[in-house]
Order: sequence, then C-alpha cells, then structure tokens
Amino acid sequence: MMKKHFISNTWVASQAATIPVIDPSTGLNIGEIARGEQQDVDAAVAAARAAIGGTFDGPWGCLSAVQRSQLLYRFFAAISERAEELAAIEAVDTGKSLKTARADAVALARYFEYYAGACDKLQGQTLPYEVGYLVMTIREPHGVTAHVVPWNYPMQIFGRTVGASLAAGNACVVKPAEDASLSLLRLAELAAEVGFPPGALNVVTGYGHEVGAWLCAHPGIDHISLTGSTATGRLVAEAAAKHQCPVTLELGGKSPQIVFDDADLDAALPVIVNSIVQNAGQTCSAGSRLLVQRGVYETLLDALAHRFRALRSGPPALELDMGPLVNRKQYDQVKSILLRAETDGMRVMARGEVHPEAASGGFYQEAVLLRDVPHEHGIAQHEIFGPVLAAMPFDDEADAIRLANGTDYGLVAGVWTSDGARQLRIARKLRCGQVFINNYGAGGGVELPFGGVKSSGYGREKGFEALLGFTVLKTIAVKHG
Ligand code: NAD
Repeated sequence: MMKKHFISNTWVASQAATIPVIDPSTGLNIGEIARGEQQDVDAAVAAARAAIGGTFDGPWGCLSAVQRSQLLYRFFAAISERAEELAAIEAVDTGKSLKTARADAVALARYFEYYAGACDKLQGQTLPYEVGYLVMTIREPHGVTAHVVPWNYPMQIFGRTVGASLAAGNACVVKPAEDASLSLLRLAELAAEVGFPPGALNVVTGYGHEVGAWLCAHPGIDHISLTGSTATGRLVAEAAAKHQCPVTLELGGKSPQIVFDDADLDAALPVIVNSIVQNAGQTCSAGSRLLVQRGVYETLLDALAHRFRALRSGPPALELDMGPLVNRKQYDQVKSILLRAETDGMRVMARGEVHPEAASGGFYQEAVLLRDVPHEHGIAQHEIFGPVLAAMPFDDEADAIRLANGTDYGLVAGVWTSDGARQLRIARKLRCGQVFINNYGAGGGVELPFGGVKSSGYGREKGFEALLGFTVLKTIAVKHG
C-alpha cells in the first residue's frame, strides 16, 4: 500500500521520500504514506484558495449555507454507511481496539450531522446605534483553514475541526499525524465522492517539523487548528504570530477525578477506570489523576485495584480493554516514566495484563495503578499518555482544589459528591475548560464546547462555539439618514 496526498479531489504523488506505516499491534511495516514537501503544501493551499475564490466566488465559496448543509449531510450519510470500513482502517493504523474505533466512527459521523444542521443557523445581529443608522454584524469564513491532527483520535478530531470549519464556509488543508494518516485520506476521498468541489478539503501527509511547520507558517493560511502536545502548540503559535494568523490550540492535560467521602463509589468506579484506560490512556482528557478524600481512600483503591488486575491489553480484533500504544516512541516513553516512578519509590498497587495472543513486536502496555503519589512528583504533574493512574489522598475541599488546580494543565475535571452546593462551589473554583459532576466526558458530547486553559491551550472546539471560532465577525454600518 502506497498512499498519496489528496489535493483538489485528486491523488497527488510526492516527489520525495515516503514514511513507513507501522501496525502498532505487531510492529510490522504495512505500507507507506507520502512524505510531503513544501510544494505539496503550496499546492494544497492554492487549491483551497481557488475553491473559496478571491471574493467568495469559487466553486465552494459561492455555495449558500443551505447548499453547504446539504453536502455535509451527504458526507454524514456516507460516513455512516462506511463506518465499519473506516473503523477497520483506524484500528490497524492506530492499534486501538475495533470497539473503540467503531465508537470513533460513530462520533465522526455525528460531528458532520451536527454541523450540517448548524450551517444555516449562523446568524449576525442588528445593533442599536445613533439615529439614522442601521448597523449589523455578519459572520464570514476565515478563508483557508489548516488542521493539524494527532494520532490518538484522528477521525474524531477531523470531525470536530473540519466539520465545523466546512460548515462555516472555509476550505480546509489537513495535516494528519505521520503515525495515523490513513483514515483521513479515505475521508477526503469520500468527501469528493459525495460532491464536495475540488479544493474544499485537501490532505497533505508528512512529518510535523516539515509539512506541519510549513503549513502553519504559510501566508495563505487564515486560521490554524492544532490538536497536539503543549510543545508543538508553542511552535505553532509562534509560526502563526509571524503572519497574524488566529489559532485554536487543543493541547495536553493532567485531568483530575476528585472523589469525596459522600460519593456514590459504585457509580464512580467504572467511569474512573474507563477514563484512564480508554484508548490505552492516549486521550488528552484522560482522568489520569485520582484525588480521593481520606475517608474512602482505602475502600476506593481496593476496589480499583481489583478492576485494574482484570484489565487486558491485546490486538484490536480481540476487542479487549485496550490495544497497544501507537508507536515505539510512545511505548518507550511510558516504560521509562514507570521505571523512574518505581526508582523513586512509588507504590504500584495493581497491574493489568497483556493478552497471550499479543504479538511480541507490538507496543503493549498493561494498565498500572500507582498509589500515594506525591503531588509534586512528575507522575502527578506531567502527561504520560498511557494507561497509568496516579492516586493520592486529600483532606477537605480546599485541599482538593489546591491539588486539582496544581498542575500546568487545565483541560477537564471530574467531581464525585452527593452534596449539591459543593458540586457548584467546586465547579466554579476549578481552573479548566470542562467540569463533569458525577460523570466524566458525558459520552463524548459533540454538542459541548471543549478546550483548555493554561498549558492545555485556548479556543474552543465542539458544539456551536467551535462554529463561531471558524468565522470572522464583520460589522456593517449603513447611514440612511
Ligand atoms: P504532537 O504535538 O507531536 O503532534 C500533533 C500533530 O502536530 C501531528 O500531526 C504532528 O505531525 C504535528 N506537528 C509536530 N510538530 C509540528 C510543528 N513544529 N509544526 C506543526 N505541526 C507539528 O502530538 P502527538 O504526539 O501527535 O499527540 C499527543 C499529544 O496531543 C498529547 O500531548 C495529547 O494530550 C495531545 N492531544 C490533545 C488533544 C486535545 O483535544 N486537547 C487531543 C488529542 C491529543
């Protein structure tokens, strides 16, 4: 298998070298993708610009909101019909279990359904002003938007950024992660099949420091959406600043699950486990820190240890709790963090297992529960991006808030308590973009604005808020006398 770029509804070969596609469940090479060059980025940006047209008169730019909506609905239907095919591609490319990949395909379709319905709901306002004036605002697309996507949820992140951007009338250039490009290439082809005009959606594959960097520095890009690490976020923001380009950054997290003495532990337990083992912990919003009030600390940790021992990692087709990690680098990184933790005296309370059918060359990491992790230690402060849960006790509300807010990140938090007033007090004091009370993640929540504060980034994706972010507000003042 050799995959090319998809530019202007055409497969375009790269002049340069290729990048191997590795199956994380075996470590074996299963194909190649194109290693994009500057001229591929230029071609994709030019195609997107032509689709918009200089004065919104291109084949994509001239469509009405209703026509865009109809195309997005057709895309939603095509994705839904091919959900199984897309899930299979994603599972092979990322190593995630087929069960997870299927859920990703459903979420992807739902994003396009949501944003298809939103296209013709984007409205401006009329503003009271001086006598003799009529003042109005209209929402216009930025123009050409760049979408830099990571490897952990390629389809979902494509859905939430590209779906919203197309709905707002932008033309898109997508740069998938070098470790997981296949599903997005297939999606671009599918968009062409359902009738998106050439250039509305383009995909250029390649390395982040090459294609990603060139795209973000490109003067023809009018908005950048990056989902990735905090380090990459800084580089992208710098590149964007050099050409006054607005950016949305969805970065990492070290999200706390906060459990009070009065919580319903039976309800909390499976959610806490799922929030760290989902996608083998490679989730930006993973609940990777567990803060438990002392009165229920031992009870909850005993129950968690029991669950962790039963967790299995294995090949995607077995549909176990977890697949492998995405690549050798991620695998080595998680192993070395765990080694360091044990060297520093951290107590492993429970471990899951790797299934005996897992290939020895695959990047399998069993789930790990660490207890009494000091708040200041790197394990409690830095994102691991693996199935590792760091538990620590707290005394009271003030202590819980101090610990919860005590990292560089601020993406998501879960709060488990039956005290209604406390639920609201805590929610207001947490510094993060989403707070879940007696649940976590709300099942994905396509409709719910998502994003971070501090090192977790800025700007919001998902929901109607994302749609607004992909527009520019123009004020028109008419003096009619
Ligand atoms: P990464 O930052 O290395 O890569 C993300 C994307 O950025 C890839 O497509 C990569 O090729 C590209 N890239 C790398 N260097 C670049 C540069 N200089 N200029 C432009 N693009 C560049 O991250 P990753 O390893 O792919 O993903 C894991 C990280 O992403 C984790 O830290 C995780 O928390 C974060 N993440 C965040 C969210 C969120 O919504 N907040 C979602 C998924 C992942």
